[in-house]
Amino acid sequence: MRASIIPKSAADLRVRPHLDESARQSFTWAGVRAELRGLPGGGINIAVEALDRHAEGPHAERIALRHIDRHGARRDFTYAALSRASNRFANALRSLGVRKGERVFLLCARIPELYIAALGALKTGAVVSPLFSAFGPEPLRTRMTLGNAKVLVTTATLYQRKIAPIRASLSGLEHILVVPDAASGSIPAATTDFSRVLAAGSEQFQVEPTLESDMALLHFTSGTTGTPKGAIHVHGAVVTHFATGRYALDLHAGDIYWCTADPGWVTGTSYGIIAPLLHGVTSIVDEADFDAERWYRILQEEDVSVWYTAPTAIRMLMKAGPELARRFSFPQLRFVASVGEPLNPEAVWWGKDVLGLPIHDNWWQTETGGIMIANTPAMAIKPGSMGRPLPGVDAAIVRRGAGGGIEHIETADTEGELALRAGWPSMFRGYLDQDERYRKCFAGDWYLTGDLAKRDADGYYWFVGRSDDVIKSAGHLIGPFEVESALMEHAAVAEAGVIGKPDPVSGEVVKAFVSLRAGFEANESLRLELLGHARKRLGAAVAPKEIAFLPGLPRTRSGKIMRRLLKARELGLPEGDTSMLED
Ligand code: ATP
Ligand code: MG
Repeated sequence: MRASIIPKSAADLRVRPHLDESARQSFTWAGVRAELRGLPGGGINIAVEALDRHAEGPHAERIALRHIDRHGARRDFTYAALSRASNRFANALRSLGVRKGERVFLLCARIPELYIAALGALKTGAVVSPLFSAFGPEPLRTRMTLGNAKVLVTTATLYQRKIAPIRASLSGLEHILVVPDAASGSIPAATTDFSRVLAAGSEQFQVEPTLESDMALLHFTSGTTGTPKGAIHVHGAVVTHFATGRYALDLHAGDIYWCTADPGWVTGTSYGIIAPLLHGVTSIVDEADFDAERWYRILQEEDVSVWYTAPTAIRMLMKAGPELARRFSFPQLRFVASVGEPLNPEAVWWGKDVLGLPIHDNWWQTETGGIMIANTPAMAIKPGSMGRPLPGVDAAIVRRGAGGGIEHIETADTEGELALRAGWPSMFRGYLDQDERYRKCFAGDWYLTGDLAKRDADGYYWFVGRSDDVIKSAGHLIGPFEVESALMEHAAVAEAGVIGKPDPVSGEVVKAFVSLRAGFEANESLRLELLGHARKRLGAAVAPKEIAFLPGLPRTRSGKIMRRLLKARELGLPEGDTSMLED
């Protein structure tokens, strides 16, 4: 059995962490806001803070982005160069007649043009909506239609494969800017050449005077629990991006930082584009898809010091085995964080064993716009816990009462819904075209997250499950995460997904779906062994009654286990919206 706490000593910390008790005590949002530049007249603009603030200061010639293409070739962009390029793009948008509040959608691989377009569009006051490049035509059409796309920036290859088939139905889409790529040769008919437009634009740009409350980003949620929602975010969110880049990711000038999330998702935007630029660090942008060996090599060769990744990626590295990892070393790595799904304690320990550093889980949602609860460098880690609320974040565990009210649960270790006191700068300001749904997320001052959690006596938060996924069995509330983590302790288990299956006696019984690591065979004796292991770890009331083997678990394109799909398939029910299902 592993220890239940990973203490930290000064020797574990290569640099002095930003977040200590005194920083916690003295924190105010207004204080953070005052560190940013703002716009003349009192507004604020995300791209100005991210780029121009540095391009006109001492970091101008520092590398902002290092792009690594599929073949390993590198291209570097300094802060000054990125700022100029984004100005060119901003001028191009203006000359196309794009006005403040209009929507610019981005559908690109992880290429520099994506970053230039996002930041340039933000300078014009247009609203940026990133699309994941692995979406098929249908999810793309849905999002662009819902979001009223006026401009789309894409690549020649993605255009041919995904946009050409639906173009006729995108009536509001006025301009398609296409980045030429080697695979596709020329620019398709009735589109505009991105590189030509960029070359034509001036490097000087008068930034639109955006206000904190002006819409900046439109992010669609992952669709884990149903049809994705469009979450509206504002320019004022940059204050949270700045604070969390410092306190949750501990970014220091001179860091080499790698966020593995695709910019098609909120993590890849908030922490892949905005937060690292705000802190003047160098970001690694890898165009290629996941490959265990490549990833270890990037960590090693690029001297990555801060790494922000996700549980799925960590589980895939675990699956690839320790021998591969041992061929590399990571002497510069000093902080590793993860988000998106619960991080099983096994994965936290894997980090310590293989990378020499534990993984720091943190929690947030598309709706929160930034990290809210985190394990930070100076804090002891309790593996399996998401950490503590960041400064400026007021979290609570609540129970929804009758009539729309809530009741706070003060007792430690008691499950309830995770709630946040409204008012942090990156809070979403609405669900696109779903006002009623947005209003239902709030009870008075409190935003209700839809996730169940508990808080222990030390103030650490523990994820229990999404309220939709929690299992009610014979009077117990069982969180799937706890059961999945126990199964993952077994050497044979690569991944586990747990659901409640209706049962006439208990209400629901726990059923687990398990995929195995290489070298293990799915058979009856292993099944019994896993059932026994779970019963010993969890007790009979919580342990699964049934275990089924699957070659892999169904996941969203952002890599999250889709328990609702496991359940629908088990019960022979309609599968619901599966547009987000990974191929
Ligand atoms: P949808 O809302 O469309 O069903 P989604 O909730 O998966 O999709 P996101 O906003 O991308 O969309 O994900 C946020 C959710 O991911 C959180 O509400 C939580 O359920 C889960 N999550 C994120 N980070 C963590 C974490 N560290 N531990 C546990 N769960 C997490
Ligand atoms: Mg959600």
